[in-house]
Amino acid sequence: MAKAIGIDLGTTNSCVSVVEGGIPVIIPNNEGERTTASVVAFTAAGEILVGSSAKRQYAVNPKGTVSSIKRHMGEDWSFSTDGKRYIPQEISAMILRKLKKDAESYLGHPVTDAVITVPAYFNDTQRQATKDAGTIAGLNVLRIINEPTSAALAYGLNNGRSQKIMVYDFGGGTFDVSVIEISDGTIEVLSTAGDNHLGGDDIDQKVARWIGAQFQSQHHVDLSRDRAAWTRVLEAAETAKKELSSSGSVNINLPFITMTKEGPLHLDLNLSRSVFNELIREFLDRTAVSVQTALRDAGISAAELGLVLLVGGSTRIPAVSEKVKALTGITPSKSINPDECVAMGAAVQAETLEGGTMLMEGSENQILLLDVTPMGLSIETLGGVATTIVKRNTTIPVRYSQVFSTAAPFQTTVEIHVLQGDRPMARDNKTIGKFRLSGIRPAPAGVPQIEVSFDIDVNGILTVSARDLGTGRQQSITITEDGRMSEAEIERARWEAEQYASQDGIRKEYIQLRQDAEKLLARAERALYAGKKTADKGELRQVKNDCAKLRKALGKVRTRELDPRDMEPVREAMEELKGSSEHLIEMTEGGTV
Ligand code: AMP
Repeated sequence: MAKAIGIDLGTTNSCVSVVEGGIPVIIPNNEGERTTASVVAFTAAGEILVGSSAKRQYAVNPKGTVSSIKRHMGEDWSFSTDGKRYIPQEISAMILRKLKKDAESYLGHPVTDAVITVPAYFNDTQRQATKDAGTIAGLNVLRIINEPTSAALAYGLNNGRSQKIMVYDFGGGTFDVSVIEISDGTIEVLSTAGDNHLGGDDIDQKVARWIGAQFQSQHHVDLSRDRAAWTRVLEAAETAKKELSSSGSVNINLPFITMTKEGPLHLDLNLSRSVFNELIREFLDRTAVSVQTALRDAGISAAELGLVLLVGGSTRIPAVSEKVKALTGITPSKSINPDECVAMGAAVQAETLEGGTMLMEGSENQILLLDVTPMGLSIETLGGVATTIVKRNTTIPVRYSQVFSTAAPFQTTVEIHVLQGDRPMARDNKTIGKFRLSGIRPAPAGVPQIEVSFDIDVNGILTVSARDLGTGRQQSITITEDGRMSEAEIERARWEAEQYASQDGIRKEYIQLRQDAEKLLARAERALYAGKKTADKGELRQVKNDCAKLRKALGKVRTRELDPRDMEPVREAMEELKGSSEHLIEMTEGGTV
């Protein structure tokens, strides 16, 4: 039977798991790695790379490389390359497609059903965008679940003792904290809090800025203005950060970091763990606020926690576990792998949704997840006030209704402005949708009765409806928020992604052709330069023309929708250039083309 998989779609790395013989196991990717870098690259040859190959080529192709796309999920953001615009859902779908493909080669059968995890603190738009990314990648998204809940599930599977635990999840781009109760097969989230834009990436930036400032004070050169240099500084910052998790100080050494009139400059600095801890203090203080909020919302004190689980790569920083200990009085548990437990919990959930039996140690009940909505949901009412309909930390799925009325006499239309967040004024919350209810029977202000209902499904995704109780008219509504895709748009994106994937064979052929053409051009151009004074003028002109012809033919290949017919002119131009440049190349470097 085809297996459903669990996917941790991370900011920095993604991980896939499947339940085999009742146990969640990690599926290595085709490169043999247990996690896949969440990096996508568009190469000059029209190839799309995902994972470590994309990460490796970043320094030579920064403009064509996208990392940390998760930070843009649900935003009106796009990435343009080669005349095509990609939205975050499409980029994430490229990562998911690779994860799906690699899982298929590991399992030996097609994979369609998947559970995907998101940070607990993701809002409605971000959840919807993640689900859409799954659909574009050709996955049937069985469920979107929260990362801390998923980690608790992986832990609870082998530790079914009744207790309240805290999951402190500090990854590459997001921070989440949840208070969860484990009892008799049930994982019940009591509260959740966090920050969608706080993670290891911010630490890297901060360390990079520190390196930049030290360098500037020594050499009076601002490295952040030099793109190539700054890329190296950022990479060195992440490496130093990781090394500082196990050593007391690191040497940051970047020879030939930049060029000045006086010659090259080298960067050579020492960063101690204590200076590093000072640099990251502000981030740890921000996580502390969420920890306190989560405990308060769960209605418990830290002393009632039985365990604190650390999840996410950034929790490897010693100052992070020290901070967690200072906040809760508990030494955090290292019993689960922070990089893999989220995907494993998702695989367990996938297995149960497919009808498999998963029992928690010490319980005879099928595992049950009870999650909450991370932020309050409200609608804007008179005076720009956000009137709460669903409070944060309400267990989902849930349906709430409230009756509203008109503000002006004989008003026949109302606009419903749906918001997510816990601030009292509408403008301070996130708009997740707007729609109109029209055809209200004309009446004095305050008379019409309009019932607004919020349905939050098990994925934490919201549907809103409005009904005029006077006429019984229910408006068919679409939430129109920038960045939210319509079904037609999702279908189109999915079709395009499939077209791209089905061209794999032609693509390989084209890439080979392109590489051969580039090599030939490089040799011919070197020969043109070397022979410019000695070779025959007519011969030089001919080679130059043929080089231009070949470049033109390459430029005409539509790399996104490869057509084998476009490759013919490239082959012909290569033959012509080979013929015309043979003598010149032989003369300048010896040997044959
Ligand atoms: P995740 O999103 O959970 O994969 O976490 C990735 C983040 O963890 C990135 O910002 C990494 O730089 C960071 N990270 C991974 N390993 C370490 C380590 N040993 N020390 C500090 N940070 C780390």
